[in-house]
Amino acid sequence: MDPRHDIELFAGVSDSEYQWMLANSHDLRLEVGEYFIREGETGTRFYVVLEGEMQIQRVLDGVPTIMGTTPRGIIGGEITLLLQIPSPMSAQAILPTQLMVFEEAAFRALVAQVPVVGARILQIGTDRIANTTSRRVQQEKMAALGKLSAGLAHELNNPAAAARRSASSLRELLPTLQRHSIDLCASGLHAQQLNMLLVFQQDVIQHRADVKVLSPLEQSDREDELADWLDELGFADGYAMAPVFSAGGIRRDDLQDLLTHFPESASIYILNWLKTALEVADLLYEVDDGTRRISELVGAVKEYTYMDQAPLQPVDIHRGLDNTLRVLNHKLKSITVQREYDLNLPHLMGRGGELNQVWTNLIDNAIDAMKGKGTLRLITRLENAYAMIEVNDSGTGIPPEVMSRLFEPFFTTKPVGQGTGLGLDVTYRIIQQHNGSIDVQSHPGETRFIVRLPLQGV
Ligand code: ADP
Ligand code: MG
Repeated sequence: MDPRHDIELFAGVSDSEYQWMLANSHDLRLEVGEYFIREGETGTRFYVVLEGEMQIQRVLDGVPTIMGTTPRGIIGGEITLLLQIPSPMSAQAILPTQLMVFEEAAFRALVAQVPVVGARILQIGTDRIANTTSRRVQQEKMAALGKLSAGLAHELNNPAAAARRSASSLRELLPTLQRHSIDLCASGLHAQQLNMLLVFQQDVIQHRADVKVLSPLEQSDREDELADWLDELGFADGYAMAPVFSAGGIRRDDLQDLLTHFPESASIYILNWLKTALEVADLLYEVDDGTRRISELVGAVKEYTYMDQAPLQPVDIHRGLDNTLRVLNHKLKSITVQREYDLNLPHLMGRGGELNQVWTNLIDNAIDAMKGKGTLRLITRLENAYAMIEVNDSGTGIPPEVMSRLFEPFFTTKPVGQGTGLGLDVTYRIIQQHNGSIDVQSHPGETRFIVRLPLQGV
């Protein structure tokens, strides 16, 4: 059958053009299981499938993945020839297959000799390149999202658990507080005296946050002083009370002064009530602290992803860096972070969410290179019309043979499952889209990724 009838690539090709193609190509037959090309090989041939079918495969993240198949009419090999890159895919026959093959020189001549076909090949090639690029970005986004949610789950866990613990302790403690309040009211104090107690308690609670943190030695001295005194007064549980009062910044003299205003018989009720009231206040403070931390985290993530904002806007680089640090906090535990910010740096026009992805990728790599321990420096500087942002780590450094391949998609030195090899590829493209540049300098013990972005942006 003359392929010009049904193969789109050949539609509208004249007789002489078709004769030229026949004269400058040859047929190739593949049996089932035979490869036309393998991923990574140098490709020197362009093909059109005339009969049968091949499977297109590529290894993604160490896993062989089927990308599609090639029924009659499908072309291939053009990207490798046009871009002069190793073949990004393997092609293996799954049916007995007949190909029309152009060797490299004939392929180049084809574009000039049969312009209709040449234009179609270029169009298909460009579409395919665009397609793999956007798939790559998508893949990296998914990986970033996975990292983000893992980090977030980790970060949310502590404050959430603390708030829940405090809330359930509160539930147990409230009946005790009520009991002590009733006892206190029944102890025969008049309204003015009760009021004085309330004022004292409120004063303590209000200043709770300002209480100086004592050294363990000072603290146990204070507690001992309180406990001994309570013991002398004849309180059986003085040693349980002392830490609560001491944590509230109350000293023995404060309590001594307070008690002089009341009959001795009321002391036990006053101290019991005061201790429980302070415990309740502490628990409420912890609930408040935990839930505030949770909403701060949610706020950071919201800003980090620029969830509800327009894509192109003035970006505060320092906020972006800080939010990124917050999101990656769980990996930074034994790393010293030094923020060396140039406070003269103005906001720049850009895509905040994408720039945060850049900081995340660079900081993430720095953390990996330091194996969790070392110094991470984030340095910013205003350089004329540019913002300079440096991510500097004290890690292993980048070996020279790795240096030249750093920004290649899928290039990674990390074990399967840990590295996607896409971080720097995506980073590079985002920076390019912002008309910026990225520069790397490295020796063992120090690696610097230096990003420059124009202030007026994209
Ligand atoms: P991945 O982190 O998934 O491996 P990247 O594109 O982010 O992919 O990085 C590619 C490679 O570059 C890494 O595997 C690593 O070998 C190297 N690299 C990147 N940043 C650093 C760094 N700060 N220190 C040392 N090596 C680095
Ligand atoms: Mg990375």
